[in-house]
Amino acid sequence: MRIGQGYDVHRLVTGRKLVIGGVEIAYHKGLEGHSDADVLLHAICDALLGAAGLGDIGEHFPDTDERWRGADSLDLLRAVVGQLADAGYRPLNIDATVACEEPKLGPHRDEMRTRLAEAAGLEETAVNVKFTTGERMGFVGRGEGIAALAIATVSHTSSP
Ligand SMILES: [Zn+2]
Repeated sequence: MRIGQGYDVHRLVTGRKLVIGGVEIAYHKGLEGHSDADVLLHAICDALLGAAGLGDIGEHFPDTDERWRGADSLDLLRAVVGQLADAGYRPLNIDATVACEEPKLGPHRDEMRTRLAEAAGLEETAVNVKFTTGERMGFVGRGEGIAALAIATVSHTSSP
């Protein structure tokens, strides 16, 4: 069994959709980025890649590559799980935290969990998403951006 961690931040701007954990959330701002800027999915992808010793999503999906412009980050997660499989690893569980002052994300937790589990090929009980705020401190607390942290375990598929 191996373990990996991931961290990501994106700036909140007007004129963008807010997509977190594969769920579009009604809000007057969204996250800025080359893809859909799904901060939670990017942290999870990095945790999985890290666990398998496969680098980070910046290497695999560079923001200079037009293929990933506006990309659905659930597709990035599916691609990462495919890369893990090629390297002989499968995800075991994912735990993540999103730090966001506004909007309230709790009502979207179950839908995020369902989408993340489906894309990662895991049972929903193997995917956990938690929410916190910045307590009005720092860039999260001022609503300038959203941060996400994730941890993932993977096992080698040839292991018993
Ligand atoms: Zn990102």
